[in-house]
Amino acid sequence: MEDYWERAQELLPGGVNSPVRAFRSVGGKPFFARRGEGAYLEDSEGARYIDFVMSYGPLILGHAHPQVVQAVIRQASSGLSYGTPTELELKMAEILCEAVPGLEMVRMVNSGTEATMAAIRLARGVTGRARIVKFSGSYHGHGDSLLVKAGSGAASLGVPDSLGVPEPLAALTLSIPYNDIESLRAVFHDVGDEIAAVIMEPVAGNMGTILPVPGFLETVRDLTRRYESLWIVDEVMTGFRVAWGGASRLFGLDPDLICLAKVIGAGMPVGAFGGKKQYMQHISPLGPVYQAGTLSGNPVAMAAGVAQLEEIHRPNFYSQLELKTKELADQLVGLGRKHGFSVSANAIGGMFTLFFSDRVPANFDEVGRCDQARYRKFFHGMLKSGVFLPPSPFESAFPSWAHTESTIDSTLKAAEHVFQGL
Ligand SMILES: *Cc1c(COP(=O)(O)O)cnc(C)c1O
Repeated sequence: MEDYWERAQELLPGGVNSPVRAFRSVGGKPFFARRGEGAYLEDSEGARYIDFVMSYGPLILGHAHPQVVQAVIRQASSGLSYGTPTELELKMAEILCEAVPGLEMVRMVNSGTEATMAAIRLARGVTGRARIVKFSGSYHGHGDSLLVKAGSGAASLGVPDSLGVPEPLAALTLSIPYNDIESLRAVFHDVGDEIAAVIMEPVAGNMGTILPVPGFLETVRDLTRRYESLWIVDEVMTGFRVAWGGASRLFGLDPDLICLAKVIGAGMPVGAFGGKKQYMQHISPLGPVYQAGTLSGNPVAMAAGVAQLEEIHRPNFYSQLELKTKELADQLVGLGRKHGFSVSANAIGGMFTLFFSDRVPANFDEVGRCDQARYRKFFHGMLKSGVFLPPSPFESAFPSWAHTESTIDSTLKAAEHVFQGL
Protein backbone atom coordinates (compact mmCIF):
# COMPACT_ATOMS: atom_id res chain seq x y z
CA MET A 1 0.00 0.00 0.00
CA GLU A 2 1.45 3.33 -1.03
CA ASP A 3 1.81 5.85 1.74
CA TYR A 4 -0.22 8.75 0.40
CA TRP A 5 0.34 10.79 3.54
CA GLU A 6 4.13 10.66 3.17
CA ARG A 7 3.87 11.78 -0.45
CA ALA A 8 1.32 14.46 0.38
CA GLN A 9 3.56 16.03 3.01
CA GLU A 10 6.35 16.30 0.47
CA LEU A 11 4.19 17.97 -2.15
CA LEU A 12 1.46 19.94 -0.34
CA PRO A 13 2.01 22.28 2.62
CA GLY A 14 1.08 20.16 5.65
CA GLY A 15 -0.09 17.44 3.26
CA VAL A 16 -3.33 19.25 2.43
CA ASN A 17 -4.99 21.95 0.36
CA SER A 18 -6.92 23.42 3.31
CA PRO A 19 -5.53 23.36 6.87
CA VAL A 20 -8.40 21.76 8.81
CA ARG A 21 -8.00 18.61 6.71
CA ALA A 22 -4.60 17.93 8.31
CA PHE A 23 -6.25 16.89 11.62
CA ARG A 24 -3.90 19.21 13.53
CA SER A 25 -6.50 19.99 16.25
CA VAL A 26 -7.13 16.33 16.98
CA GLY A 27 -3.72 14.83 16.18
CA GLY A 28 -3.07 11.78 14.04
CA LYS A 29 -3.21 11.71 10.27
CA PRO A 30 -6.15 12.12 7.93
CA PHE A 31 -7.47 9.33 5.75
CA PHE A 32 -7.55 9.71 1.97
CA ALA A 33 -11.02 9.49 0.51
CA ARG A 34 -11.64 7.65 -2.73
CA ARG A 35 -15.42 7.46 -2.88
CA GLY A 36 -18.54 8.92 -1.38
CA GLU A 37 -22.04 7.51 -1.44
CA GLY A 38 -24.98 8.94 0.46
CA ALA A 39 -24.03 9.29 4.13
CA TYR A 40 -20.86 7.26 3.64
CA LEU A 41 -17.28 8.12 2.78
CA GLU A 42 -14.86 5.38 1.80
CA ASP A 43 -11.10 5.70 2.33
CA SER A 44 -8.26 4.58 0.09
CA GLU A 45 -8.14 1.21 1.84
CA GLY A 46 -11.82 0.51 1.52
CA ALA A 47 -12.93 1.38 5.09
CA ARG A 48 -16.31 3.13 5.25
CA TYR A 49 -17.26 5.98 7.55
CA ILE A 50 -20.58 7.58 8.37
CA ASP A 51 -19.68 11.12 7.31
CA PHE A 52 -20.75 14.12 9.40
CA VAL A 53 -18.19 16.44 7.78
CA MET A 54 -19.87 16.35 4.37
CA SER A 55 -17.18 18.41 2.69
CA TYR A 56 -17.66 20.98 5.51
CA GLY A 57 -21.22 21.74 4.56
CA PRO A 58 -22.08 21.65 0.86
CA LEU A 59 -23.46 18.11 0.64
CA ILE A 60 -26.90 18.49 2.18
CA LEU A 61 -28.19 15.58 0.07
CA GLY A 62 -25.19 13.38 0.87
CA HIS A 63 -22.42 12.22 -1.45
CA ALA A 64 -23.02 11.65 -5.15
CA HIS A 65 -26.75 12.29 -5.15
CA PRO A 66 -28.04 10.88 -8.48
CA GLN A 67 -29.88 14.09 -9.49
CA VAL A 68 -26.82 16.23 -8.89
CA VAL A 69 -24.45 13.81 -10.61
CA GLN A 70 -26.75 13.53 -13.64
CA ALA A 71 -26.95 17.32 -13.95
CA VAL A 72 -23.17 17.57 -13.89
CA ILE A 73 -22.69 14.85 -16.51
CA ARG A 74 -25.35 16.35 -18.76
CA GLN A 75 -23.80 19.82 -18.61
CA ALA A 76 -20.18 18.64 -18.82
CA SER A 77 -20.86 16.84 -22.09
CA SER A 78 -21.99 20.19 -23.56
CA GLY A 79 -18.89 22.05 -22.45
CA LEU A 80 -17.18 22.98 -19.19
CA SER A 81 -17.02 26.75 -19.51
CA TYR A 82 -18.09 29.30 -22.12
CA GLY A 83 -17.13 32.82 -21.06
CA THR A 84 -20.56 34.09 -22.09
CA PRO A 85 -23.77 34.26 -20.03
CA THR A 86 -25.91 31.12 -19.79
CA GLU A 87 -29.49 30.37 -18.87
CA LEU A 88 -28.20 28.27 -15.97
CA GLU A 89 -26.88 31.40 -14.27
CA LEU A 90 -30.30 32.99 -14.60
CA LYS A 91 -31.93 29.94 -13.09
CA MET A 92 -29.54 30.02 -10.15
CA ALA A 93 -30.07 33.75 -9.63
CA GLU A 94 -33.86 33.33 -9.78
CA ILE A 95 -33.83 30.56 -7.18
CA LEU A 96 -31.56 32.52 -4.83
CA CYS A 97 -33.40 35.83 -5.18
CA GLU A 98 -36.78 34.18 -4.70
CA ALA A 99 -35.61 32.35 -1.56
CA VAL A 100 -33.41 34.82 0.29
CA PRO A 101 -34.92 38.01 1.74
CA GLY A 102 -33.30 41.22 0.51
CA LEU A 103 -31.51 39.42 -2.32
CA GLU A 104 -32.55 41.53 -5.29
CA MET A 105 -29.39 41.13 -7.33
CA VAL A 106 -26.64 38.56 -7.09
CA ARG A 107 -23.11 38.00 -8.45
CA MET A 108 -21.81 34.43 -8.64
CA VAL A 109 -18.22 33.74 -7.58
CA ASN A 110 -16.13 30.62 -6.93
CA SER A 111 -15.88 30.36 -3.14
CA GLY A 112 -17.14 31.77 0.13
CA THR A 113 -13.89 33.67 0.54
CA GLU A 114 -14.41 35.45 -2.73
CA ALA A 115 -17.97 36.34 -1.76
CA THR A 116 -17.01 37.95 1.56
CA MET A 117 -14.01 39.79 0.08
CA ALA A 118 -16.20 41.29 -2.63
CA ALA A 119 -18.97 42.17 -0.16
CA ILE A 120 -16.46 44.02 2.03
CA ARG A 121 -15.08 45.91 -0.96
CA LEU A 122 -18.59 46.81 -2.04
CA ALA A 123 -19.52 48.03 1.46
CA ARG A 124 -16.40 50.17 1.57
CA GLY A 125 -17.04 51.46 -1.94
CA VAL A 126 -20.66 52.34 -1.27
CA THR A 127 -20.12 54.02 2.11
CA GLY A 128 -16.73 55.58 1.42
CA ARG A 129 -15.68 54.27 4.84
CA ALA A 130 -12.81 51.93 5.71
CA ARG A 131 -13.57 50.20 9.02
CA ILE A 132 -15.41 46.93 9.36
CA VAL A 133 -16.69 45.05 12.40
CA LYS A 134 -16.59 41.27 12.81
CA PHE A 135 -17.06 38.88 15.71
CA SER A 136 -14.21 36.83 17.15
CA GLY A 137 -14.36 33.13 16.40
CA SER A 138 -16.41 33.72 13.27
CA TYR A 139 -14.79 32.68 10.02
CA HIS A 140 -15.40 34.58 6.82
CA GLY A 141 -12.78 33.00 4.59
CA HIS A 142 -9.13 34.00 4.23
CA GLY A 143 -9.37 37.55 2.86
CA ASP A 144 -6.84 39.97 4.36
CA SER A 145 -9.42 42.20 6.07
CA LEU A 146 -11.03 39.17 7.69
CA LEU A 147 -7.95 37.34 9.00
CA VAL A 148 -7.93 39.66 11.98
CA LYS A 149 -8.30 39.04 15.69
CA ALA A 150 -9.12 41.39 18.51
CA GLY A 151 -6.24 43.39 19.96
CA SER A 152 -6.01 43.75 23.72
CA GLY A 153 -8.69 45.81 25.47
CA ALA A 154 -12.31 46.32 24.54
CA ALA A 155 -13.01 47.80 21.13
CA SER A 156 -9.29 48.16 20.34
CA LEU A 157 -7.84 47.95 16.85
CA GLY A 158 -7.70 44.52 15.24
CA VAL A 159 -4.35 42.79 14.76
CA PRO A 160 -3.35 40.36 11.99
CA ASP A 161 -4.36 36.73 12.59
CA SER A 162 -1.89 35.61 9.93
CA LEU A 163 1.56 36.70 8.86
CA GLY A 164 1.31 38.60 5.61
CA VAL A 165 -1.70 40.67 6.60
CA PRO A 166 -0.47 44.27 6.83
CA GLU A 167 -1.04 45.81 10.28
CA PRO A 168 -2.58 49.02 8.94
CA LEU A 169 -5.19 46.94 7.11
CA ALA A 170 -5.89 44.71 10.12
CA ALA A 171 -6.30 47.83 12.26
CA LEU A 172 -9.37 48.72 10.18
CA THR A 173 -11.16 45.57 11.34
CA LEU A 174 -12.69 45.64 14.81
CA SER A 175 -13.28 42.21 16.30
CA ILE A 176 -15.66 41.85 19.23
CA PRO A 177 -17.13 38.83 21.05
CA TYR A 178 -20.15 37.12 19.45
CA ASN A 179 -23.43 37.77 21.27
CA ASP A 180 -21.89 40.78 23.08
CA ILE A 181 -24.48 43.52 22.58
CA GLU A 182 -22.72 45.98 24.89
CA SER A 183 -19.38 45.84 23.08
CA LEU A 184 -21.23 46.33 19.83
CA ARG A 185 -22.96 49.44 21.14
CA ALA A 186 -19.64 50.75 22.49
CA VAL A 187 -17.92 50.30 19.12
CA PHE A 188 -20.66 52.16 17.28
CA HIS A 189 -20.72 54.86 19.93
CA ASP A 190 -16.95 55.38 19.46
CA VAL A 191 -16.47 55.09 15.69
CA GLY A 192 -19.90 54.33 14.21
CA ASP A 193 -19.60 56.91 11.45
CA GLU A 194 -16.38 55.28 10.21
CA ILE A 195 -17.82 51.76 9.96
CA ALA A 196 -18.51 50.55 6.41
CA ALA A 197 -20.08 47.28 7.49
CA VAL A 198 -20.69 44.69 10.13
CA ILE A 199 -20.06 41.19 8.78
CA MET A 200 -21.41 38.27 10.76
CA GLU A 201 -22.65 34.70 10.72
CA PRO A 202 -26.36 34.82 11.71
CA VAL A 203 -25.80 31.49 13.46
CA ALA A 204 -22.09 31.06 14.12
CA GLY A 205 -20.82 27.79 12.71
CA ASN A 206 -17.06 28.11 12.68
CA MET A 207 -16.53 27.99 16.46
CA GLY A 208 -18.94 25.11 16.70
CA THR A 209 -22.62 25.89 16.28
CA ILE A 210 -23.42 28.97 18.40
CA LEU A 211 -26.91 30.48 18.35
CA PRO A 212 -27.46 34.24 18.49
CA VAL A 213 -28.89 35.38 21.84
CA PRO A 214 -32.28 37.14 21.73
CA GLY A 215 -31.88 40.74 20.60
CA PHE A 216 -28.37 40.30 19.17
CA LEU A 217 -29.28 40.26 15.47
CA GLU A 218 -31.87 43.01 15.99
CA THR A 219 -29.27 45.23 17.68
CA VAL A 220 -26.85 44.77 14.78
CA ARG A 221 -29.62 45.79 12.35
CA ASP A 222 -30.60 48.82 14.49
CA LEU A 223 -27.07 50.11 14.89
CA THR A 224 -26.00 49.59 11.28
CA ARG A 225 -29.14 51.40 10.13
CA ARG A 226 -28.72 54.27 12.57
CA TYR A 227 -25.07 54.81 11.59
CA GLU A 228 -25.63 54.12 7.88
CA SER A 229 -23.28 51.14 7.85
CA LEU A 230 -24.08 48.06 5.79
CA TRP A 231 -25.09 44.79 7.40
CA ILE A 232 -23.38 41.86 5.65
CA VAL A 233 -24.92 38.56 6.66
CA ASP A 234 -22.44 35.80 5.87
CA GLU A 235 -24.62 32.79 5.12
CA VAL A 236 -21.88 30.77 3.45
CA MET A 237 -22.49 28.02 6.01
CA THR A 238 -26.06 28.71 7.16
CA GLY A 239 -27.54 29.51 3.73
CA PHE A 240 -29.88 26.66 2.75
CA ARG A 241 -28.37 24.68 5.65
CA VAL A 242 -30.53 25.90 8.54
CA ALA A 243 -33.59 26.54 6.34
CA TRP A 244 -34.68 27.22 2.78
CA GLY A 245 -33.46 30.76 2.18
CA GLY A 246 -31.07 30.47 5.13
CA ALA A 247 -31.08 32.11 8.55
CA SER A 248 -32.13 35.40 6.93
CA ARG A 249 -35.45 33.85 5.99
CA LEU A 250 -35.77 31.70 9.11
CA PHE A 251 -35.27 34.68 11.44
CA GLY A 252 -36.93 37.27 9.17
CA LEU A 253 -33.75 39.35 8.83
CA ASP A 254 -33.34 42.37 6.58
CA PRO A 255 -29.67 42.32 5.54
CA ASP A 256 -28.09 44.77 3.10
CA LEU A 257 -25.68 42.22 1.62
CA ILE A 258 -25.63 38.44 1.85
CA CYS A 259 -22.84 35.96 1.14
CA LEU A 260 -23.58 32.40 0.08
CA ALA A 261 -21.56 29.31 -0.93
CA LYS A 262 -21.36 25.67 0.22
CA VAL A 263 -24.91 24.24 -0.14
CA ILE A 264 -25.73 26.40 -3.19
CA GLY A 265 -22.82 24.74 -5.04
CA ALA A 266 -23.61 21.15 -4.03
CA GLY A 267 -19.89 20.34 -3.76
CA MET A 268 -18.68 22.39 -6.73
CA PRO A 269 -16.58 25.57 -6.26
CA VAL A 270 -19.40 28.11 -5.96
CA GLY A 271 -20.02 31.28 -4.00
CA ALA A 272 -22.32 34.26 -4.37
CA PHE A 273 -22.84 37.69 -2.90
CA GLY A 274 -25.80 39.92 -3.41
CA GLY A 275 -28.39 42.10 -1.78
CA LYS A 276 -30.28 45.28 -2.31
CA LYS A 277 -30.14 46.76 -5.80
CA GLN A 278 -29.16 50.17 -4.48
CA TYR A 279 -25.87 48.58 -3.38
CA MET A 280 -25.36 45.87 -6.01
CA GLN A 281 -25.63 48.42 -8.82
CA HIS A 282 -22.23 49.74 -7.70
CA ILE A 283 -20.60 46.49 -8.91
CA SER A 284 -18.72 46.49 -12.23
CA PRO A 285 -19.64 46.82 -15.08
CA LEU A 286 -22.70 48.69 -13.78
CA GLY A 287 -20.74 50.70 -11.21
CA PRO A 288 -17.23 51.58 -10.04
CA VAL A 289 -16.59 48.74 -7.53
CA TYR A 290 -14.53 46.19 -9.44
CA GLN A 291 -15.20 42.45 -9.27
CA ALA A 292 -14.72 39.71 -11.89
CA GLY A 293 -14.01 36.01 -12.45
CA THR A 294 -13.03 33.84 -15.44
CA LEU A 295 -14.99 30.86 -14.11
CA SER A 296 -17.67 32.71 -12.15
CA GLY A 297 -21.13 31.25 -12.81
CA ASN A 298 -19.46 28.21 -14.35
CA PRO A 299 -22.11 26.12 -16.12
CA VAL A 300 -21.15 22.77 -14.59
CA ALA A 301 -21.10 24.30 -11.12
CA MET A 302 -24.43 26.04 -11.76
CA ALA A 303 -25.95 22.78 -13.00
CA ALA A 304 -24.90 20.99 -9.81
CA GLY A 305 -26.12 23.78 -7.54
CA VAL A 306 -29.45 24.23 -9.30
CA ALA A 307 -30.06 20.46 -9.24
CA GLN A 308 -29.43 20.28 -5.50
CA LEU A 309 -31.55 23.35 -4.74
CA GLU A 310 -34.44 22.01 -6.82
CA GLU A 311 -34.20 18.67 -5.06
CA ILE A 312 -34.32 20.14 -1.53
CA HIS A 313 -37.03 22.71 -2.29
CA ARG A 314 -39.95 20.64 -1.09
CA PRO A 315 -42.28 20.65 1.88
CA ASN A 316 -40.86 19.27 5.12
CA PHE A 317 -37.29 18.89 3.84
CA TYR A 318 -35.87 21.14 6.53
CA SER A 319 -38.28 20.16 9.31
CA GLN A 320 -37.30 16.52 8.82
CA LEU A 321 -33.60 17.30 8.57
CA GLU A 322 -33.78 19.39 11.73
CA LEU A 323 -35.74 16.73 13.58
CA LYS A 324 -33.05 14.18 12.73
CA THR A 325 -30.26 16.59 13.65
CA LYS A 326 -31.80 17.56 16.99
CA GLU A 327 -32.59 13.98 17.89
CA LEU A 328 -29.01 12.94 17.19
CA ALA A 329 -27.62 15.86 19.20
CA ASP A 330 -30.01 15.20 22.11
CA GLN A 331 -29.20 11.51 22.18
CA LEU A 332 -25.45 12.15 22.10
CA VAL A 333 -25.86 14.51 25.06
CA GLY A 334 -27.97 11.87 26.85
CA LEU A 335 -25.37 9.14 26.25
CA GLY A 336 -22.50 11.37 27.33
CA ARG A 337 -24.24 12.37 30.55
CA LYS A 338 -25.20 8.77 31.26
CA HIS A 339 -21.50 7.96 31.26
CA GLY A 340 -20.66 10.86 33.55
CA PHE A 341 -19.43 13.48 31.09
CA SER A 342 -20.33 17.17 31.05
CA VAL A 343 -21.71 17.56 27.55
CA SER A 344 -24.19 19.83 25.81
CA ALA A 345 -25.17 20.54 22.22
CA ASN A 346 -26.56 23.18 19.90
CA ALA A 347 -28.50 22.05 16.83
CA ILE A 348 -30.37 23.93 14.12
CA GLY A 349 -31.46 22.82 10.63
CA GLY A 350 -28.77 20.45 9.38
CA MET A 351 -25.92 21.50 11.68
CA PHE A 352 -24.93 20.76 15.27
CA THR A 353 -22.03 20.68 17.70
CA LEU A 354 -21.48 18.48 20.73
CA PHE A 355 -19.61 20.51 23.38
CA PHE A 356 -17.66 18.93 26.22
CA SER A 357 -19.07 21.43 28.69
CA ASP A 358 -22.22 21.25 30.85
CA ARG A 359 -23.64 24.45 29.34
CA VAL A 360 -23.70 25.44 25.66
CA PRO A 361 -21.19 28.23 25.00
CA ALA A 362 -22.25 31.65 23.70
CA ASN A 363 -18.95 32.88 22.23
CA PHE A 364 -15.45 31.90 21.16
CA ASP A 365 -13.86 32.20 24.63
CA GLU A 366 -16.48 29.90 26.09
CA VAL A 367 -15.95 27.36 23.30
CA GLY A 368 -12.23 27.52 24.09
CA ARG A 369 -12.97 26.57 27.69
CA CYS A 370 -14.69 23.30 26.68
CA ASP A 371 -12.70 20.10 27.31
CA GLN A 372 -10.79 19.85 24.05
CA ALA A 373 -8.64 16.89 25.08
CA ARG A 374 -11.84 14.96 25.67
CA TYR A 375 -13.20 15.93 22.27
CA ARG A 376 -9.97 14.72 20.68
CA LYS A 377 -10.37 11.29 22.30
CA PHE A 378 -14.03 11.17 21.39
CA PHE A 379 -13.22 12.06 17.78
CA HIS A 380 -10.63 9.29 17.44
CA GLY A 381 -12.85 6.74 19.19
CA MET A 382 -15.69 7.55 16.80
CA LEU A 383 -13.38 7.42 13.77
CA LYS A 384 -12.15 3.97 14.82
CA SER A 385 -15.80 2.93 15.12
CA GLY A 386 -16.54 4.15 11.60
CA VAL A 387 -17.96 7.63 12.25
CA PHE A 388 -16.23 10.70 10.81
CA LEU A 389 -16.93 13.75 13.00
CA PRO A 390 -15.34 17.17 12.40
CA PRO A 391 -11.61 16.90 13.16
CA SER A 392 -11.74 19.96 15.44
CA PRO A 393 -13.91 20.97 18.42
CA PHE A 394 -14.45 24.29 16.62
CA GLU A 395 -16.24 22.87 13.58
CA SER A 396 -19.94 22.11 13.15
CA ALA A 397 -21.16 18.64 12.20
CA PHE A 398 -23.44 18.30 9.16
CA PRO A 399 -26.05 15.56 8.95
CA SER A 400 -27.52 15.27 5.45
CA TRP A 401 -30.71 13.98 3.91
CA ALA A 402 -28.88 10.71 3.28
CA HIS A 403 -28.40 10.10 7.01
CA THR A 404 -31.27 7.69 7.55
CA GLU A 405 -32.67 6.48 10.84
CA SER A 406 -30.43 3.41 10.65
CA THR A 407 -27.33 5.56 10.01
CA ILE A 408 -28.22 7.61 13.07
CA ASP A 409 -28.74 4.43 15.10
CA SER A 410 -25.32 3.12 14.07
CA THR A 411 -23.82 6.48 15.04
CA LEU A 412 -25.43 6.32 18.49
CA LYS A 413 -24.30 2.72 19.02
CA ALA A 414 -20.75 3.79 18.21
CA ALA A 415 -21.05 6.76 20.56
CA GLU A 416 -22.32 4.57 23.41
CA HIS A 417 -19.30 2.33 23.00
CA VAL A 418 -16.87 5.27 22.75
CA PHE A 419 -18.27 7.13 25.80
CA GLN A 420 -17.89 3.88 27.76
CA GLY A 421 -14.18 3.75 27.08
CA LEU A 422 -13.44 7.50 27.27
C1 LIG B 1 -16.72 28.25 4.75
C2 LIG B 1 -17.01 29.65 5.09
C3 LIG B 1 -16.41 30.72 4.39
C4 LIG B 1 -15.35 30.50 3.35
O1 LIG B 1 -15.82 29.80 2.26
P1 LIG B 1 -14.75 29.08 1.28
O2 LIG B 1 -15.59 28.55 0.18
O3 LIG B 1 -14.08 28.04 2.11
O4 LIG B 1 -13.80 30.13 0.83
C5 LIG B 1 -16.83 32.00 4.67
N1 LIG B 1 -17.78 32.24 5.60
C6 LIG B 1 -18.35 31.24 6.30
C7 LIG B 1 -19.40 31.58 7.31
C8 LIG B 1 -17.98 29.92 6.08
O5 LIG B 1 -18.54 28.95 6.81
